[in-house]
Amino acid sequence: RRGMAKSKFEYVRDFEVQDTCLQNCWVVVRVDGRNFHRFSDQHNFTKPNDARALLLMNHCAKSVMEEIKDICLAYGQSDEYSFVFHRKSNWYKRRASKFMTHVVSQFASSYVFYWNEFFPEQPILYPPGFDGRVVLYPSEQNLKDYLSWRQADCHINNLYNTVFWALVQKSGLTPAQAQDRLKGTLSGDKNEILFSEFNINYNNEPVMYRKGSVILWNKVNEISKKVIKLPHEAEEKEVEVCRVRNQPVVLHCDIINDAFWEEHQNVLSA
Ligand code: ATP
Ligand code: ATP
Ligand code: MG
Ligand code: MG
Ligand code: MG
Ligand code: MG
Ligand code: MG
Repeated sequence: RRGMAKSKFEYVRDFEVQDTCLQNCWVVVRVDGRNFHRFSDQHNFTKPNDARALLLMNHCAKSVMEEIKDICLAYGQSDEYSFVFHRKSNWYKRRASKFMTHVVSQFASSYVFYWNEFFPEQPILYPPGFDGRVVLYPSEQNLKDYLSWRQADCHINNLYNTVFWALVQKSGLTPAQAQDRLKGTLSGDKNEILFSEFNINYNNEPVMYRKGSVILWNKVNEISKKVIKLPHEAEEKEVEVCRVRNQPVVLHCDIINDAFWEEHQNVLSA
């Protein structure tokens, strides 16, 4: 860019390796909070689910999508978020390191930047980190199964955590005792403990905790005011202009059953 001359050092560029994501594959970038067991403790997260923390995660994911329009869907739970790039995306020539590092750095800086909006009474004590990975899925079914896997993980962990913290917070068990009590229990047993000992119907727990969060693009009408000056009139006047804008929208719903994909067919095809 700075003219044709090349320095004698230029050859070191050839040490860089190609990391193009295979054509036609869905590219998933998953980020996960580093040591959030500790981070959540030190920042007094409500256990088992801190709603503020989950809403902050969702807000960061939306900010990532606003910056990177080739992401067609995102799914988040706990301290993790998965971002799906459309299989036809040619962003940064499909370089894996660009996908991963842009997502994870935008996510991490947003987490700190927006922290205060979600935790007005809790100062952030140290800069949190996030890891990132890239995984390619060659078929639509593989991608759907990946997302189902993350939502199943959300369900299993959340059911466990809900009983675990009920035993600790409401029955006064120590964490070790609660862990012991739950050893070897199946999900039916956990539902039964919640119902008979705590009068909790697990299915009535908040849906964001049970299902995690899905983010999709949605068209919305945006009305804004604009000042215009007509050629034959002396005065300027204000008019309303309506524009269709794509906006990331957060849902909390089942993504394992086909119904979700039937209702949102455009997400993977467009
Ligand atoms: P690693 O660096 O290996 O990811 P980690 O401590 O972050 O270690 P994870 O398996 O990612 O381990 O688990 C994240 C932990 O963060 C959860 O087990 C939970 O303790 C805590 N956590 C994350 N989000 C929330 C939340 N919204 N409310 C309460 N606790 C949370
Ligand atoms: P890309 O996203 O491709 O990296 P970029 O705009 O960041 O695009 P770079 O080649 O990384 O392009 O160049 C960084 C630019 O940022 C410089 O060209 C300069 O304009 C600006 N910049 C960076 N650091 C400074 C600084 N300390 N003072 C003034 N300008 C700076
Ligand atoms: Mg630079
Ligand atoms: Mg981990
Ligand atoms: Mg983590
Ligand atoms: Mg995690
Ligand atoms: Mg730069």
